[in-house]
Amino acid sequence: MEDVIILGTGCAGLTAAIYTGRAQLNPLVLEGTQPGGQLTTTSEVENFPGFPEGIDGFMMMDNLRKQAARFGARYEHAKVDKIEIQDGIKKLFAGDKVYEANTVIVATGARPRLLGIAGEQEMYGGKGVTTCATCDGAFYRDMDVVVVGGGDSAAEEALFLTRFCSKVTMIHRRGELRASQIMADRATSHEKIEMAWNTSPIEVLADDKGFCRAIRVQDTVTSEEREIPCKGAFIAIGHIPNTDFVENLLDRDGDGYIVTEPSSQVKTKYAGFYAAGDCVDHVYRQAITAAGMGCQAAIEAERWLAERES
Ligand code: NAP
Repeated sequence: MEDVIILGTGCAGLTAAIYTGRAQLNPLVLEGTQPGGQLTTTSEVENFPGFPEGIDGFMMMDNLRKQAARFGARYEHAKVDKIEIQDGIKKLFAGDKVYEANTVIVATGARPRLLGIAGEQEMYGGKGVTTCATCDGAFYRDMDVVVVGGGDSAAEEALFLTRFCSKVTMIHRRGELRASQIMADRATSHEKIEMAWNTSPIEVLADDKGFCRAIRVQDTVTSEEREIPCKGAFIAIGHIPNTDFVENLLDRDGDGYIVTEPSSQVKTKYAGFYAAGDCVDHVYRQAITAAGMGCQAAIEAERWLAERES
């Protein structure tokens, strides 16, 4: 029986691991399909306090991981499919394996949302459609690409792609960006970035080898359709929380985010069961807020275990 099992190795999960580790709770951290979480696919993290020059996302997560290990966190690869609670004991089912714990912190984050348009799935992952400029940008050197979306992620992806690509067209369904002012200004003033305002993608078009050659779009004001030639289409339209495995256990909102108790950001309706980071937070969704929630969940778990023992 474990005292604490943490699901997820993003900012929330690893911060929870550092705190529960330092509290001598010997946390077991289960990492799923994307170790290190979303920041491992980010180029430069500029807004995490304490790094005046910014820090590479992958390096930051590697540092967090080592920091938690230093305090006794243990890591295992396991994709939890289901959790049951019997007499207060949390049973986590991962394939053939069953883990048992007194407390659980779910910090499973979120995954990129896709458009659901024709051609997208067929060309996803290797044939021109992708959700990660950091991972795939270099494959598109000297080529024209598009980025779909108008938030900070889209602006960041577009700016990153200007390092490699000849032209980056940002396709956004409205007439102004949702991104923060600083990111919006950087994107709209960049000489390699062209804005396609009031424009919705309707199909990704393939060449005769099945690779992306263009994206067909529609003007949201005039309904006029046109093709934007591109070898790569980077989709950056937000995220879906990774919470399906708790659908029969925890309350979730209409978008799948775990609903926590009004008294706390991280307590669920079960004692000793917490949730933190992007699987809960649909408002702030920052590395620093995820880390903060991971810290809160760890402190709650520590207090709950201590009270139970006294
Ligand atoms: P987001 O802020 O939710 O933006 C999603 C964008 O995609 C919006 O512009 C939205 O359009 C568009 N969109 C959504 N569904 C669409 C669809 N079906 N078709 C076309 N467009 C669609 O998501 P995000 O950019 O991933 O950012 C998430 C959070 O992370 C935010 O809080 C952001 O500030 C933060 N973040 C921060 C940084 C940074 O500080 N450097 C970097 C990345 C992310 P509408 O605008 O019309 O809704």
